[in-house]
Amino acid sequence: MENIKKEYKVMKDKCIGCGSCSLACPEGTEMDTDGKAIVISSAKLEECGGINVCPYGAIGIDNGVEVNDDEEEE
Ligand code: SF4
Repeated sequence: MENIKKEYKVMKDKCIGCGSCSLACPEGTEMDTDGKAIVISSAKLEECGGINVCPYGAIGIDNGVEVNDDEEEE
């Protein structure tokens, strides 16, 4: 059963905490307590432009496939 829903995530090691994404897409991302952004809604972020919302390339797609070099640390 494949669900091809895109899941976005912020790669914390690339995020510089500029806040552009939460300004451009407040329903899709917000700033976390560590000063970096987190994705709160992949669907909304998709509408805002997805990975292009971050000018620093810190937003990636995580749909079970390999995403660059970042590991989730939860
Ligand atoms: S726009 Fe990119 S670098 Fe800036 S806070 Fe959002 S994810 Fe981080």
